[in-house]
Amino acid sequence: MYLPGVGPKKAETLRREIDTVSWEDLLYYFPYKYIDRSKIFKIKEIDGNMPYIQLKGKILKYETLGEGSARRLTATFYDDTGSIELVWFRMLKQIPQLYQIGTEYILFGKPTVFGHRLNVAHPELETESKFYEGEPGVQGQYNTTERMKNAFLHSRAIQKIITKILELLKEPLQETLNQYVIDQTHVIPLDEAIRNIHFPKSPDLLRKAQYRLKLEELFYVQLNILRVTKYREKRLGGFLFSKVGDYFNSFYHNNLPFELTNAQKRVVREIRLDTNSGRQMNRLLQGDVGSGKTLVALLSVLLALDNGFQGAIMAPTEILATQHYETISCLLQGLGVEIALLTGSTKKKDRAVLLPKIKDESVKIVIGTHALLEDSVEFGNLGLIVIDEQHRFGVAQRAKLWKKNTVPPHILVMTATPIPRTLAMTLYGDLDVSVIDELPPGRKPVKTIHLYSERRHNLYESVRKQIQAGRQVYIVYPLIEESEKSDMKNLTEGFETIQKIFPEYRVCMVHGKMKPAEKEAEMQGFVSGETQIMVATTVIEVGVNVPNATVMLIENAERFGLSQLHQLRGRVGRGAEQSICVLITRYELSENTRKRLAIMTETNDGFLIAEEDLKLRGPGDLDGTQQSGVAFNLKIANLSHDGQILSQARDLARDILENDPSLEKPENAVLKQQLAKLNTQHQMGWFMIS
Ligand code: ADP
Ligand code: MG
Repeated sequence: MYLPGVGPKKAETLRREIDTVSWEDLLYYFPYKYIDRSKIFKIKEIDGNMPYIQLKGKILKYETLGEGSARRLTATFYDDTGSIELVWFRMLKQIPQLYQIGTEYILFGKPTVFGHRLNVAHPELETESKFYEGEPGVQGQYNTTERMKNAFLHSRAIQKIITKILELLKEPLQETLNQYVIDQTHVIPLDEAIRNIHFPKSPDLLRKAQYRLKLEELFYVQLNILRVTKYREKRLGGFLFSKVGDYFNSFYHNNLPFELTNAQKRVVREIRLDTNSGRQMNRLLQGDVGSGKTLVALLSVLLALDNGFQGAIMAPTEILATQHYETISCLLQGLGVEIALLTGSTKKKDRAVLLPKIKDESVKIVIGTHALLEDSVEFGNLGLIVIDEQHRFGVAQRAKLWKKNTVPPHILVMTATPIPRTLAMTLYGDLDVSVIDELPPGRKPVKTIHLYSERRHNLYESVRKQIQAGRQVYIVYPLIEESEKSDMKNLTEGFETIQKIFPEYRVCMVHGKMKPAEKEAEMQGFVSGETQIMVATTVIEVGVNVPNATVMLIENAERFGLSQLHQLRGRVGRGAEQSICVLITRYELSENTRKRLAIMTETNDGFLIAEEDLKLRGPGDLDGTQQSGVAFNLKIANLSHDGQILSQARDLARDILENDPSLEKPENAVLKQQLAKLNTQHQMGWFMIS
């Protein structure tokens, strides 16, 4: 706040909006893009394939269009060669006051084709005098929020503050990498990198600065992860599951309703070897939706039981935990194993009965939610914990698990969202990986089509035919916190409409705001087949298994991410019948959205979809991964483009730890110090090893 041009008010805005409290924070607030400010285009020169560009012109008129979530403000912007449309979806009231009709502005933005016209959404506009205050040439652009803009902290202001800081620095910034890394990579010094990332002296120096900062960022993430791996390996080791006994064999020969797929067999073998090695298992099991991960989990748990241990399975939601509990109770019938369900809504008095039984080992298998991790839950002898559908479960949380016992239980993390390699190396960099790459026999791939909302009239007749043939139907609506109210309205209106269209059938509604018991009852009605149509939000996304459901209608499909669409689609196609997934959207779609939907209709390959998702949206937006920390605190490295730098960073970190596992040597002191600093800065995702 003491910097010239900042002051207490702006300082507070910076803190609230971008979590920035120090000079250093600002120096690490990097431009998100660079533009050549010397070039101004004419409107007739532009097309939909250009990056961010500048135009010079005036606003002719404003117009407000659309209803509800589609409500938007448009303006006609013109120069002497033509006109283009500007669009805002937020600040509809303020914009016309901010930017006056008839004033000449320099416009900065990315033109896209929307419907049949070119437009620029949320452009930046500056009067010409303001514009020329800056220097010409390549300039960094900083992300700013609406609140920051309202506090006059737009990109240009941030740039000025950073200029000031760099002027005030009395000496060069201290180097944060050690000589070994510098020698191996030939990176430029930190001070030079920071100066050039903000004010590139040349395109070449900008590239070098970017490389240096990306490498450093990824290097520390890897150093952190690999240190944990070393630490784990150094510990006493893991429980030894040396034998395959009665539980496993009797289940396998008497209870298993079908033959395992080859992929399932291979993974079970990998888990057997791992748990019989004397080391603690930390394994990630990737397998597309419907590939039969539950069974693999169960067989692993039975292995634990055979060796005198308890097993636990943890799911992210109550619905999933309950479903696992029911499936597994059913599968284990006749084996005489006591199984318990423990979730957040387990009643106090039931808990009081249950907890001692978990402690004295009379309960052998515990299935539950995060409630399993509470301190009050003490296992007598937990040998294995399976974590299902957990992209939300980062290294930090796993580390917590290892500390729960003196000897850590074996850990099997299962995920249905195939994770791109770079992301896996970052999120799950400390895990061994098994893959189920084969679906059980007899599955027909789900057919996926894209349908414009206006054309839906034939849809319901086809749906009716499916229900007449005995099938069930999901209809999913988006629901996100920011627009929760209008989303809820869409959902309930959708529900009512569907009830009217299908008066002869039972329709239920399920969403995350319902009481768990209510939700449970509705879900059960659908699972048992009493209800034919379920109208729901994405609460059904993970794990729900109703093989009789063959139709998945996704409303406002443009609002879902690729991985999420893939997850939703995975709810159908679980039985022998042909299933269909219909992506319903409005007509006007951005190019990016069209691409996303096309990928969905073209492929069922989850890995491919995950890679595309990462490319199109960046890791910060990947579904379910927001809370996993590490990967998403990345300031400059991009996991979809920097795979090579990531590999290099990982190799460097591995080399260093190979020779100096606890970073005790003097030449690594700077690394240890920097790691400790980063660990205190990032509370999520990073973690301390004492
Ligand atoms: P996911 O990997 O998505 O968790 P599930 O474990 O729920 O998949 O399995 C999906 C469905 O496939 C279940 O109904 C399960 O009983 C069935 N299944 C699993 N393994 C096999 C197999 N080897 N042969 C036939 N069906 C199987
Ligand atoms: Mg599952």
